[in-house]
Amino acid sequence: MATTYRGRFAPSPTGPLHFGSLVAALGSYLDARSHQGEWLLRMEDLDRTREIKGAADRILLTLDEFGFTWDGPVVYQSQRTEAYEAALQTLIRKGLAYRCSCSRKEIAQIAQRGKEGPIYPGTCRNSLKKYRDTHSIRLLTRHEEIICTDQVQGPIQQNPGRELGDFIIRRSDGFHAYQLAVVVDDGWQGINQVVRGADLLMSTPRQRYLQQLLSLPKPDYAHLPLAVDTQGRKLSKQYRDAPVDSRRPLDSLLQALAFLGQPLPTEKPDDLSEFWTWAIEHWSLKKIPAQRQIPVSPANQ
Ligand code: GLU
Repeated sequence: MATTYRGRFAPSPTGPLHFGSLVAALGSYLDARSHQGEWLLRMEDLDRTREIKGAADRILLTLDEFGFTWDGPVVYQSQRTEAYEAALQTLIRKGLAYRCSCSRKEIAQIAQRGKEGPIYPGTCRNSLKKYRDTHSIRLLTRHEEIICTDQVQGPIQQNPGRELGDFIIRRSDGFHAYQLAVVVDDGWQGINQVVRGADLLMSTPRQRYLQQLLSLPKPDYAHLPLAVDTQGRKLSKQYRDAPVDSRRPLDSLLQALAFLGQPLPTEKPDDLSEFWTWAIEHWSLKKIPAQRQIPVSPANQ
């Protein structure tokens, strides 16, 4: 029997749904539904320091107003701490993770800079460099290439040992890191297709590595281009970083569909249901431009 496609959308409640997150929601949704698959929602509210009060409910409301439907209850990462801690303890028991007391400042002074930030030089690998009240937990990395084929962006490669160094899986303030939580949850929720924004493309090798260490199944990945402003910068308020307009869902959905390189109906659909039928029927991952970023013009033009 063929495995059921199971995808997900995993927003962080750091603000309302904007054009960029709508693109990720739409891409993951259409890919799932065009494969008769399930689409799950996970609220990545692990980092309470970045959370905006009310944003999670607002995101869910907007998705509903736009006509997205999801399967099963919404999972909240803030309620899954025990699962992340259990995975972390497994890694420690296997000798794959260790305590680190280095401060950011100390690391910045000695570390080389990589594409993803300072490359941790392994200072606390064998023992804590300094005693401190709090410490983070780092994952041991190897000097070994991890090669993945992304369904949109093509082959990617990373050597975590050389390019990242041992990375944090539990922060010194006690929060489990995104890389660990996402892998634990994708495994637990049985996600076999991850469709998300290309800002996370180079997180995939780390996630593959963690899946291997935790004996978790490996989903397939498709990374969608990110909407940036005409200078290649993160979207600002004048651009489409403003919350999507719930009074005109069709307009935003059609713009997001065009952004993903999909064909548009010749006439504007009469309602959301007509839009969704068209979009699911005509969806093709192959039509998505294999770019990590695509500039969009200001929303008011
Ligand atoms: N929570 C992440 C975000 O909102 C997405 C994580 C993922 O899809 O793996 O950017």
